[in-house]
Amino acid sequence: TTLEREAGIERGTDRNVSKAEIISFEPATGAEMWRGKVCDVDDVVARARRAWPAWAAQPLTNRMELMRRFANEVRKEADNFAATIAREVGKPLWEAHAEVEAVINKVEVSIRSYAERTSQRKLDSALQGKMAVRHKPHGVLVVLGPFNYPAHLPNAHIIPALIAGNAVVFKPSEKAPASGEILAKCFNRAGISAAVMQFAPGGPAEGQALVAHEGIDGVLFTGSANTGISINRRLATRPDKIVTLEMGGNNAMVMWDTPKVSDAAALVVQSAFSTAGQRCTAARRLIVKDSLYDTIVPEIKALADRLIVGAPFDEPAPFMGPVIDNAAADGLSESFLYLLSHGGKPIKHLLRPDGTLPFLSPAIIDTTAMKDRPDVELFGPILQVIRVSDFDEAIAEANNTRFGLAASLIGGTPQEYNRFWANMRAGIVNWNRPTTGPSHAAPMGGVGLSGNHRPTGYYAADYCAYPVASGEMEQPRAVIGVGLK
Ligand code: NAD
Repeated sequence: TTLEREAGIERGTDRNVSKAEIISFEPATGAEMWRGKVCDVDDVVARARRAWPAWAAQPLTNRMELMRRFANEVRKEADNFAATIAREVGKPLWEAHAEVEAVINKVEVSIRSYAERTSQRKLDSALQGKMAVRHKPHGVLVVLGPFNYPAHLPNAHIIPALIAGNAVVFKPSEKAPASGEILAKCFNRAGISAAVMQFAPGGPAEGQALVAHEGIDGVLFTGSANTGISINRRLATRPDKIVTLEMGGNNAMVMWDTPKVSDAAALVVQSAFSTAGQRCTAARRLIVKDSLYDTIVPEIKALADRLIVGAPFDEPAPFMGPVIDNAAADGLSESFLYLLSHGGKPIKHLLRPDGTLPFLSPAIIDTTAMKDRPDVELFGPILQVIRVSDFDEAIAEANNTRFGLAASLIGGTPQEYNRFWANMRAGIVNWNRPTTGPSHAAPMGGVGLSGNHRPTGYYAADYCAYPVASGEMEQPRAVIGVGLK
């Protein structure tokens, strides 16, 4: 019943976890790089429950100060941290450095966002007298991280959760425990105890056990739609638990009239192939106006031909690395074949120079003629091109998905952008900007199968605390005006 199976796409079996151990492999070489014990879920949750009240009772300013110390710990560790991320998930070193930078920046952004969105407010109401609105933390929150941004994305939940006064149980992706461990250690070195901010390595089984545990108060999840749906189903009878789901996309880029063909092509290539297409916001479908097709598509192909695919530490630096593992590379190759054998016309083939490693070349395929394009997220460097003749058709095609994370219009008039903005069902709608690279200062989330209306990014503060309304007078004062005998 998975989305992949609907499209005839199966994932390989997981070689990263056994009952007792979790092992991380370098995608670029296949070498083992980290090994550790799988956490004991009951112990982890019990420890967090014990630690939580004292953490929640600390003054907010202390917690903020500790986050700033955390940022300093990350700065001290930056080179090792970036190198570990690059080795562990295969992204180029320059990109791993940018991820570490994002981890640091999250601190100040979260402090601002807490103050703006969830700080205390005093109200004076003529009817009710003095009122206050203050926020309380939920308690013990489980953060489940994906592999593609193994530090920045879990961190995007962790910092706001800690600032608000929650204890955090962080289960990193089983494909990136080493990066997760460094992140957790930086918190602990900054003075946040290993009970308040716990590193809980494990695989899907530990994820499931944490989600189902009575002792937790919520789950902050970033990962695939399949997993998100299963978490949602598991907690469907538990309205008392907060559930935040940041999931995948089948994101569209609409290419309309533009004289800036080379810039337009660069935006497409950047959106489709950065991080080897392993970004939730990556452009998967390029929807092109018929009359522009013969100008823009060759330009995109020529630029994609020039991209260097290489190992993270190669010189000159690669544009993109391998995908996460051989199982993912196998799945993507099968998906490409599926598109080819169901009416797709190749513009640039998906190549895998060494069948024992997961390096893939960027691929482009015209799927205009396909009757039923599978609406699944192909999490890798595959871009589909679909030609359309008018703008309404372009918008309808862009919305032809159950997902709704990111969409961009390239070219077009301000009036056309207004129509695009008004009609696109997505949490991120851009004009002449890539689909990727969401801003720290904005909400980050999607509609449809991409999320559950609890965006992260700047809005993460909203799901890390709940508001309490209080009418407050120093002395009781009440008059019963009517209905007395
Ligand atoms: P994944 O769903 O396979 O795993 C995510 C986490 O969930 C991991 O820690 C995993 O161990 C855990 N998990 C797996 N099965 C579970 C279960 N049944 N119950 C509880 N936990 C379980 O995702 P991934 O492959 O690591 O990451 C890639 C996916 O993440 C893509 O679909 C991508 O689009 C999405 N993503 C979304 C965003 C966003 O902000 N919307 C950002 C990055 C990645």
